Amino acid sequence: MPPQLPKGNPSMTSDVTNHMPQSNDVPSPVRFFGVDAAAFDAQMVSWNLPKFRAGQIRDWVYDKLVSIPARMSNLSRRDQEGLARHVAFETSAIASHQHSNDGTQKLLLTWEASAEGKRPAAGANAETVMIPDGDRRTACVSSQVGCPVGCKFCASGINGVKGNLTADQIVEQVYRFNQILHPRGERITNIVFMGMGEPLANYANLMQAIRVLHDPQCFNIGARKITVSTVGVPSKMRELAHEELPLNLAISLHAPNEPLRKQLIPWAEHFALDDILDAARYYFDKTGREITLEYILLAGVNDQPDHARQLVKLCRTLRANVNLIRYNEVAGLPFGRPRGDDVLRFQEILRDGAVNAHVRKSRGRDIDAACGQLRREKLGEQAGEVIAASGNVSLPVVS
Ligand code: SF4
Repeated sequence: MPPQLPKGNPSMTSDVTNHMPQSNDVPSPVRFFGVDAAAFDAQMVSWNLPKFRAGQIRDWVYDKLVSIPARMSNLSRRDQEGLARHVAFETSAIASHQHSNDGTQKLLLTWEASAEGKRPAAGANAETVMIPDGDRRTACVSSQVGCPVGCKFCASGINGVKGNLTADQIVEQVYRFNQILHPRGERITNIVFMGMGEPLANYANLMQAIRVLHDPQCFNIGARKITVSTVGVPSKMRELAHEELPLNLAISLHAPNEPLRKQLIPWAEHFALDDILDAARYYFDKTGREITLEYILLAGVNDQPDHARQLVKLCRTLRANVNLIRYNEVAGLPFGRPRGDDVLRFQEILRDGAVNAHVRKSRGRDIDAACGQLRREKLGEQAGEVIAASGNVSLPVVS
């Protein structure tokens, strides 16, 4: 395609070289947050735009937190218009933004149903939580709409999974919080995939999102500051070990033996605990990263001394540390929050057994903090069902 000569202003070099497609040439815009810097550079070159233009756009978006092309003042008007037509930046609406007294914030993002057929049919939504702690700003990110795992104590799994979030929808959760934090000169520093969904069940989108979040020219978040939390999908844990990224891997264990685990986590039916632990050892061997075992303490269910002793034995088979999470109870469910003394006793048994065990601080208890709860309330999904709580909004302890 020959260069288009500019109409009106021949001195505008960008117009001479701008082969950004006309709107009817492309079926859908490029999702900016779904591509890393190299891919966006290549896209710009394919439009016959100079590569440095891509860097200018990233500078606006990632450094200045400006994602409206008309405000990118060092681009020509024509480039701004082309960008607005052919590149999508934020695509979500903020349906709810809650603030906790302890500084934790929670967003519910929603997306229109898309004709592309690649997104959840009924329109996607995602809960994201930002947990401040010292200089750290951790985003607890969702990877799916709903969750296929169906833990008995969690709101996200009650209605099953509605679909996968795309890479750009996962990344946009972090960007939205960067925009919120920007006026205070703060950014998201750490990511935990502990929101709605099983991240390893949406592996391709998860990894693409991680590539963008990790890319020094995009979010520049180190792999060691990113935690993937899974209920345990052995084949995908092994695949993750080969990504050559030293990501933190956390396993939602919640029970020290197979029968109890199957009662609490219906999905555990599909994957034997031994296979999960084998895959965890494999991950450690390949990456050198110690595994974190997440253990939600449910009063009288899995918080007894004998459970702690079983957990010590299990921990002796792999290099792991344990995060203990005190369940946030919700009216209508048969699960209770354990007493502080019981939590400390549980931790003590682990420590006596030489297991590195931390009790995670509960955060955002005053803002519908439980995973999936806000979404169900706002989007009316509960339809008379009880609401469960995972108590997942707590401070992750990762190295
Ligand atoms: S606790 Fe996590 S894995 Fe379990 S249903 Fe909720 S979101 Fe899914």
